[in-house]
Amino acid sequence: MSKTMKAIRFYEPGVIKFEVVDIPEIGDGEVLVKTKVVLTCGTDIKIYRRGHPKVKPPMIFGHEFSGIVAKVGSNVTHFTEGMKVVAANSAPCNECFYCKRGKPNLCEHLSETLIGFSADGAYAEYVRIPERIVRQNLLEIPDHVSFQEAAFVEPLACVVNGNEAANIKLADNVVIIGAGPIGLLHMQLARARGAKNVIAVDLIEYRLQKALEVGAHNAINAKTDDPIEKVKALTDGRGAEVVIECVGLPQTWENAIAMTGKAGTTVLFGGAPPGTKISVDTHRIHYEDLTIKGIFHHTPVCVSRALDLISSGIVNVKPLITREMSSLNQVEAALKEMQKGETIKIAILP
Ligand SMILES: [Zn+2]
Ligand SMILES: [Zn+2]
Repeated sequence: MSKTMKAIRFYEPGVIKFEVVDIPEIGDGEVLVKTKVVLTCGTDIKIYRRGHPKVKPPMIFGHEFSGIVAKVGSNVTHFTEGMKVVAANSAPCNECFYCKRGKPNLCEHLSETLIGFSADGAYAEYVRIPERIVRQNLLEIPDHVSFQEAAFVEPLACVVNGNEAANIKLADNVVIIGAGPIGLLHMQLARARGAKNVIAVDLIEYRLQKALEVGAHNAINAKTDDPIEKVKALTDGRGAEVVIECVGLPQTWENAIAMTGKAGTTVLFGGAPPGTKISVDTHRIHYEDLTIKGIFHHTPVCVSRALDLISSGIVNVKPLITREMSSLNQVEAALKEMQKGETIKIAILP
């Protein structure tokens, strides 16, 4: 095996470089994965444009990936060379306050071994899987699942976590604000949970068409229509039982609460920068029994369910790949293209 590999490293906002670097060394409990597919993600665009507090340059980024086991540490028992695998980007410590209280998604040590942030990521020919992830969040890919499909495990795991918080009931009206990759996955889960009316809201026609293609019953273009009025019109004037916001802007957060009907649940899934404020009618929250929830990241249970959802065909991730690019040196072009909005995800094949 050669000692070097090609990789994309982030240096500073707007500067990423295609370089030859050393293949990572692995410890006794670790696994080296030869990357087969890396998916572009909205967070990668944020890192590329603005940097990220957890990313210490120069750093290989990219965190939605799948591949083949190239090497295993001497203490690794469940994985062997040549196995098809997918990993989440993190794993909880199981020892901190939040882990012990059953909230491993909020583990205080999550960011210590975060692939693509604090640990070198997957825009590279090889990626080192830290021991904690090997033990909890490295999974073998079933034969009939492709590398491209399996690479959706990480974002889908986050969506599983958020979707469970939404408490969707049979025959509910469910609005999903934002028809990017995350919103499109929420739509499929809402349908799988028996929603009678899944309503997609976005500003971009291409994404709304995708929404209808993956199972939304209705699509609202918030550029041309008032989304709150439209949702009311589609729900006999009541508003939706469940609204999931996947954008992360104050306006869409406020809209999400405004279009939630009495006794309904609003899930605020899209994250906004620290200090962002919204304004809410407290009268409605109290007298209309509203439930407003925040939700973050994933847990090993969600990661395992995510692969099962893909493997069983309950979630179809194939329509979410807009394009393939066959080389790592196209990552920058892919991220630039993603910013235009006429793309859901681009699969990079290192
Ligand atoms: Zn991501
Ligand atoms: Zn913990």
